[in-house]
Amino acid sequence: TGVQGGPLAAAEARALRRARVTPSRRSFDGSLVVVTGAGSGIGRATALAFAERGAEVVAADLDADAAERTAELAGLLGPAGHAFQVDVSDRGAMEDFAKAVVHEHGVPDVVVNNAGIGMAGPFLEHGTDDWRRVLDVNLWGVLHGSRLFAKQMVERGQGGHIVNTSSAAAFTPSRALPAYATSKAAVLMLSECLRAELKGEGIGVSAVCPGIVNTNITRTSRFVGQNEEDEARSRQRVARAYARRNYGPDRVAEQIVAAVRDDRAVVPVTPEARLGYLGSRVAPGV
Ligand code: NAD
Repeated sequence: TGVQGGPLAAAEARALRRARVTPSRRSFDGSLVVVTGAGSGIGRATALAFAERGAEVVAADLDADAAERTAELAGLLGPAGHAFQVDVSDRGAMEDFAKAVVHEHGVPDVVVNNAGIGMAGPFLEHGTDDWRRVLDVNLWGVLHGSRLFAKQMVERGQGGHIVNTSSAAAFTPSRALPAYATSKAAVLMLSECLRAELKGEGIGVSAVCPGIVNTNITRTSRFVGQNEEDEARSRQRVARAYARRNYGPDRVAEQIVAAVRDDRAVVPVTPEARLGYLGSRVAPGV
């Protein structure tokens, strides 16, 4: 197969086991699915979940090697996997990426705008550059992906589906994540507005809002207002809390697949996300 053991062996074995699904579950046969942030965590699990259901997958990530690895695994599970290196916050790079996808593989049927970064710390410690970076990746990255691929889907005229990864932070006010939560609330509203606009085109839009999921996000997160030592400690503390929850990215991927299949608008994933979502609708702003 060309795939060796190593840190991914467990995830790989799980994915391959799951891949022994009955042919009736291969509901994405013939589909092209694009996933950003596909090199790790929720993005990788999502790419593989679609691959094992028969989809050809485009795995895009800032980290070229990680995207390559996901594409390789997707190719083992499904008909084909393709890797792209792209920074979702870079509009020009995203335009080139969208063009290349259509040119090389066609208009995607499903796009999952999932790439994101964490940013933690008090509001008063967040500098302008911190705000800019988190909004550039988490909001503008989703916006570029949604706009570019939605245009292609509309031109093609055969519908499609866009999934944007928001977060439970979008409806759970927090002292710890002001910039991150703001970016994710914007992604939620962007997705709901886009959903209303694209309905008539047969294009579904879903916002998927996970709670705490055990991924590497703390590795790429920034902890503002702390010195290096404190930051390293915070990173470890949060990573341990994430590991304790033990809610894995595979389970979020299943919800992303279901969001597309059932055309769901907002999908809170994990118990605390569901609670937060209900609370925000019943008693907003509390
Ligand atoms: P992760 O760090 O494991 O994966 C994120 C991936 O995005 C990485 O491969 C990273 O290289 C890539 N990425 C980062 N910046 C990028 C950029 N500018 N361009 C392209 N790729 C970029 O984290 P994850 O937990 O799988 O996160 C996926 C999404 O889920 C993010 O949007 C995150 O905010 C969201 N989310 C995560 C959690 C959680 O608890 N893990 C909870 C709610 C929402």
